Amino acid sequence: TTMKTTDNGSGDVRLSGISKTYGSFTAVHPLDLTVPQGSFFALLGASGCGKTTTLRMIAGLEEPSAGTVHLGDQDVTALPPYKRPVNTVFQSYALFPHLDIFENVAFGLRRRGIKSVKKQVEDMLELVQLGEQARKKPHQLSGGQQQRVAVARALINHPKVLLLDEPLGALDLKLRRQMQLELKRIQTEVGITFVHVTHDQEEAMTMADTVAVMNAGRVEQLGSPADLYENPQTTFVANFLGTSNLIEAEVDTKSGDDIVLKAGGGKLVLPEARCSAPTTAGGKVLVGVRPEKISLVHADAAGEIPENRNRITGRIAHSSFIGVSTQYVIDSQVCPEFEVYAQNIERDARLVPGADVVLHWSPAHTFGLDAAQD
Ligand code: ATP
Repeated sequence: TTMKTTDNGSGDVRLSGISKTYGSFTAVHPLDLTVPQGSFFALLGASGCGKTTTLRMIAGLEEPSAGTVHLGDQDVTALPPYKRPVNTVFQSYALFPHLDIFENVAFGLRRRGIKSVKKQVEDMLELVQLGEQARKKPHQLSGGQQQRVAVARALINHPKVLLLDEPLGALDLKLRRQMQLELKRIQTEVGITFVHVTHDQEEAMTMADTVAVMNAGRVEQLGSPADLYENPQTTFVANFLGTSNLIEAEVDTKSGDDIVLKAGGGKLVLPEARCSAPTTAGGKVLVGVRPEKISLVHADAAGEIPENRNRITGRIAHSSFIGVSTQYVIDSQVCPEFEVYAQNIERDARLVPGADVVLHWSPAHTFGLDAAQD
């Protein structure tokens, strides 16, 4: 069964200069954002960053202080929520306790006066894999199943956009993970635009095609999960998505497509394309590298490191074996708590706390941030 909407472009969400102020406090600074039809889009950020307010302005539950909301070609800024072709799933899914699952899902159709609902409701229950549960009451279902009923109920009227406000927030971790994959599958199957609000970076990365990382009422960076992870543009994004080691460095010279930087008496190389800071000589850059991109060798084996690697020296402060990898914390002159996740390295008995080591990694896995931006 395919439920894809066919009218192209109709599910684009376009925010133009949209903002929200409460008195003198700005919850959302003027924001321009386009969510393409059919994509799974996540608004990601810590509590209070403005993501829910943004979502509620799309839904019509919050009136923008300025700017417009378009759904497809339609300017919906002045429309009340029920006249917008969107529906919202909240964390508190508030199913009708006295109605069975079938009737909970049928509700939106019946309210519109539609008499023959059976086929549509059954198809929808099939989509969320609750075909067998149709005659149960909400309290007889698990939290994850109840959340799927809420999704089915929200999709039954074929909204062009489904908004999800921390829908998995009440579930335990294991169920959350299952539901992330489940929601992704449902979105792919129905093909409509999903805009999902979450504070959980792993959740956003797992589900979304595009993630907008929000901080203090602004979108700091927008991109695919891989792009945000590999090429963070700000220290906030570098630290919010996973762990980054950041080294204070100074631009020395350029060499072809690379920048050469000075850091703690040594040098580091960085492709210019991966640097979001100004690259004039003498400029300060935070040089970043992810912990899993780094190799670690005992100082005595430093001679075996290939030429073209970035390297720094340090001393192991702690190590912890966590099964898939060993995590090391390294004290070095250029970065006080350098984290290294070593996988698949041969276990070297010398790599114990107190040992002198050399860390090395490829310039291609190095990124540069503007040290002066915050
Ligand atoms: P959370 O995950 O905690 O819901 P959020 O990122 O979704 O956080 P918002 O709910 O969008 O954040 O709120 C953004 C900011 O606006 C917060 O600082 C909040 O206190 C403030 N805010 C929200 N609603 C109001 C209101 N009605 N009056 C005044 N300030 C508000």
